[in-house]
Amino acid sequence: MSTPVTLVTGGAQGIGLGITRHLLAGGHRVAIADIDRQALDEAVTTLASDHLLGTVCNVADNQQVATWLAAVMEHWGRIDGVVNNACRRGHWAGGPPEQQDLALWHATLAVNLTAPYLVTRRALPQLRQAHGAVVNIASTRALQSEPYGEAYAASKGGLIALTHALAISCGPDVRVNAIAPGWIETGDHQRSDLRQVPDHRPIDHQQHPCGRIGTPHDIAALVAFLLDHDRSGFITGQTIVCDGGMTKRMYYAP
Ligand code: NAD
Repeated sequence: MSTPVTLVTGGAQGIGLGITRHLLAGGHRVAIADIDRQALDEAVTTLASDHLLGTVCNVADNQQVATWLAAVMEHWGRIDGVVNNACRRGHWAGGPPEQQDLALWHATLAVNLTAPYLVTRRALPQLRQAHGAVVNIASTRALQSEPYGEAYAASKGGLIALTHALAISCGPDVRVNAIAPGWIETGDHQRSDLRQVPDHRPIDHQQHPCGRIGTPHDIAALVAFLLDHDRSGFITGQTIVCDGGMTKRMYYAP
């Protein structure tokens, strides 16, 4: 089989950069799309690989997605995997629901929910041909909330629903799964050691049943597993929570 080609949205920074680095090390050719030109240039320079193609692209824009995928096809001629990772940051939508700006709601849903739909849909003919896989990066905020996270939580809850809907529509040729990360520290996102446990207060680590905050490696390794038909070929439509056990800890005020 020829070297797989995998798309990673928002691959220039944070978890997406970690996924890109991990997939490159695992033998993938990776096409990243990111809206942040400076971060993209830095990532491409730092990773310096013939197996990396970086494109400035707003993945919430259908036309830009079409242009990006056409460029990938022209460059490599196939698509085996899609990782929908790009997100609009900001869990707190500006105060209580009655004060929230509707524009922020639409902007959040456009990047976090509509974009995965646009990219996956556009890649489907190639994915079907390759018997490929899609991995959507959701969040544990789809399952639990702090105050004022309506837009982000709804976008990620929608992404989990989109995941099982696409899995049923696109199987058996294409598998579609999601990962719901908990707290993943991405502060020093250019670091080369993706497993390095971040420097935080002991209590921040200890509250996790696994005893630590997450790293980009935790998510990247799971992405590689879900893209690999040999290892995860009987898994589709699922959301795997990767949060150090935080959503399983019962909490009542002392
Ligand atoms: P990040 O903000 O560090 O990186 C997101 C990347 O997406 C950036 O490079 C940004 O430029 C890019 N991006 C944003 N809008 C875009 C657009 N319209 N088109 C193309 N690229 C765009 O975020 P992160 O912390 O690395 O999060 C990555 C994913 O993991 C997101 O889906 C996020 O919701 C999810 N997640 C993160 C955490 C965490 O603790 N970091 C927890 C749960 C879920």
